[in-house]
Amino acid sequence: MIVVWPKFHKYITFPGTRAITLWPLIILRDESSRQDQILIRHEQIHLRQQLEMLIILFYLWYVTEFLIRLLRSRHAHASYLSLAMEREAYDHEADPDYLQTRRLYAWSRYLMQPGARR
Ligand SMILES: [Zn+2]
Repeated sequence: MIVVWPKFHKYITFPGTRAITLWPLIILRDESSRQDQILIRHEQIHLRQQLEMLIILFYLWYVTEFLIRLLRSRHAHASYLSLAMEREAYDHEADPDYLQTRRLYAWSRYLMQPGARR
């Protein structure tokens, strides 16, 4: 379910982010983001990741991996972009068929690949 909730979004995300996915919700910063199919697909990939990780394990893994990468790089944005789950979402957000062909735990193949996509 997609909701637009600017005040909530403002308090739980970093400045500049347009969406956050907290299963089962995709929370958008503004109404115009509803039309951005790439953004919505990116968040739908996170919904799929969250489901296969039984939701709570997704958040534990996400935060732990982020902190490890932050300790190594000391750069928050680079750490975010290098997260395996983010790299899968960014790599496939433009593919309209991706969610139909995606394998379970597809994000895990990014764990062994160094560096961020961007
Ligand atoms: Zn993401």
